[in-house]
Amino acid sequence: MILKNTKIVLENNIIENGWIEIEDKKIISINEGTADKDGVDLEGNWLMPGFIDCHVHGGYGVDFESGKIEAFEQFSKKVTQEGITSYVQGSVTNSKENNERYLGEFSKFMKNDMIGAKCLGIHLEGPFISKEKKGAHELSLLEDPNIESLKKLIKYSDDNIRIVTYAADLQDGSFTKFMLENNILPSVGHTNMSFSQCEKDYELGFRHVTHLFNGMSGVSQYEPGLASFALYKDDILCEVITDGIHIEKDTLKLIYKIKGPENICIITDAMNAKGLDDGEYKLGNLEVIKKGMKVFLKESGVLAGAGATFDHNIRTMIEANPEIKMTDLIKMTSINIAKQLNIFNKTGSIEVGKSADLVVLNKEMSVIKTFVEGKSVYER
Ligand SMILES: [Zn+2]
Repeated sequence: MILKNTKIVLENNIIENGWIEIEDKKIISINEGTADKDGVDLEGNWLMPGFIDCHVHGGYGVDFESGKIEAFEQFSKKVTQEGITSYVQGSVTNSKENNERYLGEFSKFMKNDMIGAKCLGIHLEGPFISKEKKGAHELSLLEDPNIESLKKLIKYSDDNIRIVTYAADLQDGSFTKFMLENNILPSVGHTNMSFSQCEKDYELGFRHVTHLFNGMSGVSQYEPGLASFALYKDDILCEVITDGIHIEKDTLKLIYKIKGPENICIITDAMNAKGLDDGEYKLGNLEVIKKGMKVFLKESGVLAGAGATFDHNIRTMIEANPEIKMTDLIKMTSINIAKQLNIFNKTGSIEVGKSADLVVLNKEMSVIKTFVEGKSVYER
């Protein structure tokens, strides 16, 4: 297949007018100029690496916690309309029985052929988090980070846990080491730890932080916490919910100025009402209202998870930081997290030999088409 008449965003430069050739799920050539062969005319729009969301809990009516294969499949199909070609599926604090059931179903889902975006595994967000920064997680089910408990969850999932969010201050370093030795990305978050408490696990090798600013100790001049540490260290990759709701646009400016495009990965952290019409929905047992990209508890008006799509989050990030170049943007949407998850040799950028995981955006940054492994999975 040929995709032609397009502006191709490569890792370090842009081909203003070019075409690419795809064969057997992979990109086999990248070319400048006009293709004289038949192909899909992309009408001068941007061709970019497909987006990778490493933190999401559902959308389009799907709540991953329902633990149903059909629901996982439905999400994988629908989420391609946001330009997402890979994602790491969230799993929140739950009872041992529910974890076993959910992760068991998930392991079957991972053995099936993917029909939409590719699921890369589980992002375990809880139970290894702190009481003080638990967010919407159930207090009675929280546990201090514990290798034996994690081993059980790994087993239920059939070795499909890729990221674990944990309160690093509630363990002695052995939990961090265990994850690093077992190809799991340690992501520090949902913790009240101080700046100095972060040093030990940083020395051990943690380089990823769960949704910067949300669910963590902050940047107070008297009590610098994880947010201060994550901003201070150049090589910590920060997940950022760039919806303009969980983090104000002016704070998105500050984050971009300090971390730069190399050390941010955009996430949605979205829940089941994402992608649905405005209205009343349920999040577990809670009644919530979705209005625009915002989801809040009906009773109190408190934010109840994120409802924004990945493409919305990109537009908001650019509105806050108009200086972002397309080659910077793809770092935050695809490249950084692909490197972090050790899959950059296969996907995450437009390069010969890599999987043809691609998104076509127009100049308003709206998704026109999405391809997963060269197959068209979404067309507006
Ligand atoms: Zn989350």
